[in-house]
Amino acid sequence: MSTQQLPVVVIGAGPVGLAAAVHLVERGIEPLVLEAGGRAGAAVREWSHVRLFSTWGEVVDPAAEKLLAPTGWTRPDPATYPSGGDWAERYLQPLADALGDKVRTGATVTGVSRAGRDRIVDADRDRQPFVVHVEYADGREERVFARAVIDASGTWATAGPAGGSGLPALGEQAAADRITYRVPDLKDPAVRARYAGKRTAVIGSGASAFTALAYLAELARSEDGTGTHAVWVLRRGISGSTFGGGTADQLPARGALGLAAKAAVDKGYADAVTGFRTEAFERDGDGRLVLVGEDGRRLEPVDEVVALTGFRPDLSFLDELRLGLDERLQAPVGLAPLIDPNQHSCGTVYPHGHRELSHPERGIYLVGMKSYGRAPTFLAMTGYEQVRSVAAAIAGDLDAADRVELTLPETGVCGGAGLFDTPDTRQADGGGCCAAPEPQLVQLETRPAVGTAAEEAPAGGCCGS
Ligand SMILES: Cc1cc2nc3c(=O)[nH]c(=O)nc-3n(C[C@H](O)[C@H](O)[C@H](O)COP(=O)(O)OP(=O)(O)OC[C@H]3O[C@@H](n4cnc5c(N)ncnc54)[C@H](O)[C@@H]3O)c2cc1C
Repeated sequence: MSTQQLPVVVIGAGPVGLAAAVHLVERGIEPLVLEAGGRAGAAVREWSHVRLFSTWGEVVDPAAEKLLAPTGWTRPDPATYPSGGDWAERYLQPLADALGDKVRTGATVTGVSRAGRDRIVDADRDRQPFVVHVEYADGREERVFARAVIDASGTWATAGPAGGSGLPALGEQAAADRITYRVPDLKDPAVRARYAGKRTAVIGSGASAFTALAYLAELARSEDGTGTHAVWVLRRGISGSTFGGGTADQLPARGALGLAAKAAVDKGYADAVTGFRTEAFERDGDGRLVLVGEDGRRLEPVDEVVALTGFRPDLSFLDELRLGLDERLQAPVGLAPLIDPNQHSCGTVYPHGHRELSHPERGIYLVGMKSYGRAPTFLAMTGYEQVRSVAAAIAGDLDAADRVELTLPETGVCGGAGLFDTPDTRQADGGGCCAAPEPQLVQLETRPAVGTAAEEAPAGGCCGS
């Protein structure tokens, strides 16, 4: 069988992996989606209680919508906001069902290489198919050959540690019973009981930290939550942009998250501790946790810690491939300058495609959340545009692959924090988003219909465009 007749393996049946499969199908290319979880959208389901700040209209891929239409799928109101659970149940699952046996669940990819060529062998490398090692939930193993590999495996499983230097803080592992790396679901009675009336440190400065602060403030206001208090631990100081773009954010619900966190602080439900880099977790005599800073500061003991310091890509199963990754972000080198928070700080993302996502090893693409490496502010619609372009490139349609068919909303933050979960990578507020490369332009037929939240948002953003 020639390499061209082999399927394209897509790793991960999240929103971007499934969209990749749809774009491949549209182009007559056979995809095989391998998903580690038991169902499509396994990662999204783990944060099913969190409401997206994007509307339905912004998180449904246009090509997927076309595939779903004839199946009797009911399109959710594009102007409303789904939760993670809604996104998985009402969109990702029907999409996986429509793709049928092109999606295999319980299938974890544990290695990818070139057939017969480990990382160091040059000879004839580009002409060999990829070989993908799969481990199934029932214990079987398999090798799948592929003409190309699209890694859309996300970063959800590899959350960053609470430690200020990127390593786990001293005592972090020993304190695991008191630390979570996810936004707690306070509607779940067992989880609610864990935080009600307790003092909780929230570490991080992105959208998830804002969400956790808002949830804890809501708990503090409720009957069963008396005495609940949050300590918000930030590695930097508080500036005008700490709380995101607020009303200037072109995604209004994203702006509102920062405002809810600000309200939690202003109303006394949370105290902010700034310039604090966690060096160690110690226990006091009652078993509560004391956060010790790199500068020797010790915080009042807390009962619980919610560490929301961002995610990292798991590159371990790609070790036999020749990837070109930026040394800071672990994102493809062509993409990194567009999203590096050290270089431009507004958190606004730029549409891009196969060229920015390619590697010295031809035929492997990291897409979706994983393509951003450690950079924050990934949006699903960015991923949909990535895979539209990548599928076109694999099909050899470079005209379509090079076209940019997306415009993205500005965060409204200039010279400060980005959104999403960040370990505060920016040392200085240099650059500003206006220093970032100009987005190419743009036309988008299928983005939110007139009157949706995104269109009603104030124009402008930090670049005033
Ligand atoms: C709490 C939260 C809220 C967010 N809100 C928004 C929002 O409002 N708007 C927005 O645009 N974006 C939002 N995002 C960002 C982003 O759009 C989502 O994270 C989105 O789920 C990313 O899609 P993905 O397909 O790249 O990765 P994922 O959704 O993480 O999917 C990856 C899939 O790959 C599977 N997988 C992982 N490893 C393997 C392996 N080795 N083998 C096989 N399968 C594997 C996982 O099980 C998972 O199903 C949010 C993110 C989070 C965490």
